[in-house]
Amino acid sequence: MIETSKPVVEKVAIIGGGIGGLATAIALRKQGIDAHVYEKAREFLPVGAGVGLHPNGLRCLDAIKPGIVDILKCSGCQVDKVTLKTSTGETIMTYESPMIKKYGQPTLTIWWCRLQQILASYLPSEVIHLNHCCIGFEQNENSVITHFKNGKTVESDLLIGADGVNSKVREILISDGEPRYVGSMSWRAVVNYQDELLQPHEVILMKGEESIVFLLGVGEGNMSWLARKLLPDSTLSSTLAEAKSRVLREFANSMEPVRELIAQTDPEGILEGSICDRLPLKQWSYARVTLLGDAAHPMTPAAGQGANTTFEDAYELAECLRNFSDLQTALANYDNRRIQRTAIIQTHSAEREKLYYQPFQQNNQQLQQERENLENWMYNYEPKSESRLRPG
Ligand SMILES: Cc1cc2nc3c(=O)[nH]c(=O)nc-3n(C[C@H](O)[C@H](O)[C@H](O)COP(=O)(O)OP(=O)(O)OC[C@H]3O[C@@H](n4cnc5c(N)ncnc54)[C@H](O)[C@@H]3O)c2cc1C
Repeated sequence: MIETSKPVVEKVAIIGGGIGGLATAIALRKQGIDAHVYEKAREFLPVGAGVGLHPNGLRCLDAIKPGIVDILKCSGCQVDKVTLKTSTGETIMTYESPMIKKYGQPTLTIWWCRLQQILASYLPSEVIHLNHCCIGFEQNENSVITHFKNGKTVESDLLIGADGVNSKVREILISDGEPRYVGSMSWRAVVNYQDELLQPHEVILMKGEESIVFLLGVGEGNMSWLARKLLPDSTLSSTLAEAKSRVLREFANSMEPVRELIAQTDPEGILEGSICDRLPLKQWSYARVTLLGDAAHPMTPAAGQGANTTFEDAYELAECLRNFSDLQTALANYDNRRIQRTAIIQTHSAEREKLYYQPFQQNNQQLQQERENLENWMYNYEPKSESRLRPG
């Protein structure tokens, strides 16, 4: 075994300043790699809704930046209790979250943009390049040249596409068409916390016939509502006011405080989306270009693993770049470590998405056992430093 401290790349361009791109930049810069993030947005705005971080994702974040999870715990909200209700508000069951006892870390719910801000705060501001929309790239033996809409170009040793479900990098690299609409639409927002609806540290899940509403705390005096409904039409509303009217119409039969909550929400804060995924790929890395997060493995949100598997990717990619002596071997190992695991989670998430809209099956023990086995495997994921295990 040989140990070297020199990384296999010096300069890395990361497309996308979402939570995956930022976490990856932190992990790479820690190794002395000159990683830069190129984000199409002109500024980081207070957008998004609540995102759930689970033990596997939190462990990876803490391995990337020790201490960050304590900061996230102060900003977000730890889930201790889950309540399942009907859409008209009758409680079906309540249970304590088993996460800390079983996996040593909680489920943490946090406002997406707060998570983005916290990650960005660990990077020097000059390495985050806003208003840089990637429109193309070409690679040769020695480097990758990336082109941006603003006319700029950047040369790097490695290009990482962390540009989300509609990834431009993936489109150029793999050309596998549009994401797959899985049949449900989603609306979400963050509002001021209302204690008549939600107890502290509680998540409420309200199941309608073909719809579901989540209420969750996101910390700092805020809560988030997320409403999803099975709908054949995935067209997005043309204005914010139209999106609000649509969600009010679709959830007209929900229990009164939820309808009222949606009615009181500023249309500017309502994020409308169609729930999409893609079928798993067999390869993510081609020479000097690779994919990460939603660009590599977009999945439905049913298993709550989109962000968490993205943090696993960030950790593992950084480890591979550190532990292998050439780029091709490092990227081949990254693909090997990540593709099989994320493919299983993508498939599970798609199946679970369908179950969301079926009647609650409390006594289906086989289903519960299968789910528990899978959850143990997902949440027990351990980031392990392999710096001493580099093949010689
Ligand atoms: C604005 C926003 C809000 C979100 N809110 C939530 C939420 O509330 N709850 C939740 O569970 N999940 C949310 N997500 C999704 C969730 O963060 C991701 O599914 C997951 O964490 C994977 O992260 P990612 O970094 O791979 O992709 P994303 O988080 O989607 O980030 C991709 C980034 O790439 C940028 N980008 C896209 N194309 C280009 C391009 N051509 N050039 C440069 N930059 C580009 C995007 O602007 C974005 O910042 C949100 C995503 C976004 C972009």
